[in-house]
Amino acid sequence: MAKKRVLITGGAGFLGSHLCDRFVKEGYSVIAMDNLITGDLRNMEHLFKHPDFEFYHHDVSKFVHVPGELHYILHFASPASPIDYLKIPIQTLKVGSLGTHNLLGLARAKKARIIIASTSEVYGDPTVHPQTEDYYGNVNTVGPRGVYDEAKRFQEAITMAYHTFHGLETRIVRIFNTYGPRMRLNDGRVLPAFIGQALRGEDLTIFGDGSQTRSFCYVDDLVEGIYRLLMSDYAQPVNIGNPSEITIKEFAEEIIKLTGTTQKVVYKDLPKDDPKQRQPDITKAKQILGWEPKVSRAEGLKITYEYFKSLPKEVLYQRDHKSFDSYNR
Ligand code: UDP
Repeated sequence: MAKKRVLITGGAGFLGSHLCDRFVKEGYSVIAMDNLITGDLRNMEHLFKHPDFEFYHHDVSKFVHVPGELHYILHFASPASPIDYLKIPIQTLKVGSLGTHNLLGLARAKKARIIIASTSEVYGDPTVHPQTEDYYGNVNTVGPRGVYDEAKRFQEAITMAYHTFHGLETRIVRIFNTYGPRMRLNDGRVLPAFIGQALRGEDLTIFGDGSQTRSFCYVDDLVEGIYRLLMSDYAQPVNIGNPSEITIKEFAEEIIKLTGTTQKVVYKDLPKDDPKQRQPDITKAKQILGWEPKVSRAEGLKITYEYFKSLPKEVLYQRDHKSFDSYNR
């Protein structure tokens, strides 16, 4: 029997490339699509020799054409760090809105099931803690994060409309902070920022007083949750994340211990609209998918640190590996 075909957008990104690995391993024929603005071919290098893997260099905010059958689509293309949204706000809006529309149309044409990557950012700076899926959120539409948050909220809305209006098989995963190998060292996110600083012998920069919280999920756990959700018959949004919550100050202390750096922490201004607390309520994922995270932060951070240590020295000093200037069209 011919293998089932799956399209993974953002396939050269952090999460997308791990999803490509998982689907190849599960025996699917995988097409990765990416415009390589924030993605990196090195994340998929090991897959190029695989007979069941193809790469399409394409921007999904333009019409998407894939010849032949498709059974599943995973829409994971999007800039996903606060620094990226500031640099490429319009691309961020377009991939979540126009890109999602194109992929829903493709899913309809191919009679494929589609899962879209939503985010805890749909909850904004939450006033409900921990965040349950039925919380509607607290988003500043015109703040720096608005371009991402609103694109993702629109993405959920149009996906649900295709589900109810066209009967399309859709899934929505709300992803909380995730980490692991292949994160971009220079994407400004707290974990690569701290580890990069430790490796370069710089002080660790805590934004604000460090009392804000996050809950970090190891990438393998996240991929397992996404896989189970896609294979389930549940069309409402599901939180996938690790409920183990920590303040950013405590997190910096963990990284100092992990890396053995002798540097100290320094305090910088808190960026605008930075959420004060974030923790997923994963009751739904437990009940519906029988899923919960298995990898402790201690284990996950160790693996991630080894990955960052193994990168070529010059990557450590690349502040930004691409010019974003031409992209905000
Ligand atoms: N942060 C920090 N120092 C850094 C980078 C980030 O203290 O060098 C803080 C940031 O202000 C936020 C948290 O760490 O409160 C997580 O930031 P990140 O950019 O990783 O993701 P977010 O969860 O805010 O989208």
